[in-house]
Amino acid sequence: MNYFMPTRLFTGEHCIAKNVDVLRGLGSSCLIITEKGAAEASGALADLKEALTSASITSQVFFGVRENPPVTVVAEAGRLAAELKVDFVVGLGGGSSQDAAKAAAVFASNPTLDEDAFYGFKWEVTPKPIVLVGTTSGTGSEVTKVSVLTDSKARKHSIHDDRLYATVSFGDPRHTHTCPKVTTLSCGVDILAHAVEAYFSRKADEISRAFSVRAVRLAFAPLTAAAAGETLDADQRKDLYEASILGGLAINTCGTCFPHNVGYYLTENYHVPHGYASAVFMPDMLELCRDQHPAYTQDFFDALGHTQQELVKLVTDAIGDLAITMDTQEIEAALPRWEGNGSVKNTLADVTTDDIRRILTDHFVA
Ligand SMILES: [Zn+2]
Repeated sequence: MNYFMPTRLFTGEHCIAKNVDVLRGLGSSCLIITEKGAAEASGALADLKEALTSASITSQVFFGVRENPPVTVVAEAGRLAAELKVDFVVGLGGGSSQDAAKAAAVFASNPTLDEDAFYGFKWEVTPKPIVLVGTTSGTGSEVTKVSVLTDSKARKHSIHDDRLYATVSFGDPRHTHTCPKVTTLSCGVDILAHAVEAYFSRKADEISRAFSVRAVRLAFAPLTAAAAGETLDADQRKDLYEASILGGLAINTCGTCFPHNVGYYLTENYHVPHGYASAVFMPDMLELCRDQHPAYTQDFFDALGHTQQELVKLVTDAIGDLAITMDTQEIEAALPRWEGNGSVKNTLADVTTDDIRRILTDHFVA
C-alpha cells in the first residue's frame, strides 16, 4: 500500500468556528481566494471571516476565480498575496477555488515564476500554507495534492505535488445547502467518477478501494434523490459531502483514469461541467473492465450492493442529455492527445486509441 495525506481535516456543522484555533499557528493574515456569488450565498465566507476575526487573523478577499481557473488568474491571486505579505492563503469554494488557491500559494512564494517554470515545478521557495473551505460535494480537493488549471493554450492540466496539500481543510455540509440542482448533480457524479476511476486504476490498493466503495455507497441514495428532482435534507447533504472527501482520498492515491482526461476535452470545447464530462464515460470504462477483469469488476459491485446497471442508470439519469454532436474529422483530430496519456494508461483495462474513437463515436456522432 502507499498512503500519504498530511492535511488536518475537519468536517461537520460549524466545523470552522469550532476549530479555528488551528489557524493561529499559521500566522496573523491571509488572502481568501474565491469566486463571487457562491462564496456569499453559501454562508461560507461569512462563517470564515467571523472565525478569522475571533482568532485575530486579518483577511482580504480575491474574488477573481472562475470555473476551470486559468493559470494567469491564479498567478494574479498569488502575486497579490505576495504583495500583501500574507502568511497563508485560503481557497474557499468548490474545486475551482480550492485548486486556484493551491496554485496561488506557489505564486505567493515565487511571484516571478512564469507558466513554464510553474508547470515544470521549478518552485524555489516552498508555497505558502494553504487552508481550504469546501462549498460543494464533489471535488474532494480538500484532501488531495492535485490542482487542475487551464493553461494559456486553453487546455486543462492537472498538477500533483506534495507541496499542494492543504495544511487544514474545513468541510461544513451546511455550506452546500444552497447549491443549485445542476451543481449538486454535476459535482455529485464527479464523486462517483473519482471513486469508480480510483477503484479501476492500476494504483488501487486496499486502502483506496475501501475509500472508493464507501464513497459510492454513501453518495448513491442522495444522488438518486437529487436526480429525481428531490430537494436534499441536511442528512443527505452530509452524506454527499463525506462521500466527496472519500472520493478525494481515493483519487489522491490512485489518480484518475481515461474518463476524466477525455472529459477535459468536453469541458474545453463544449463547456460541459467537469463532473458530467468525466462521468459520462464511466459506463464505457466499466464495460472495458468487465470484459478484461470480470472477477475484479464483480467484486466491486458485490461490495457496493448495487449492480453495474443500477450505477450506470444513476449516472445517466443524473447527467441527462449533453446535446453534443461531433463529426468523425473532429474525433480524428482530437485522438492524438490521448496517445501515451497517463490517465489512459492508469486505467486497469487496456484502452486503445480505437477504443476512444469508438466511445466518442457512440456518444456523439449522430
Ligand atoms: Zn473530477
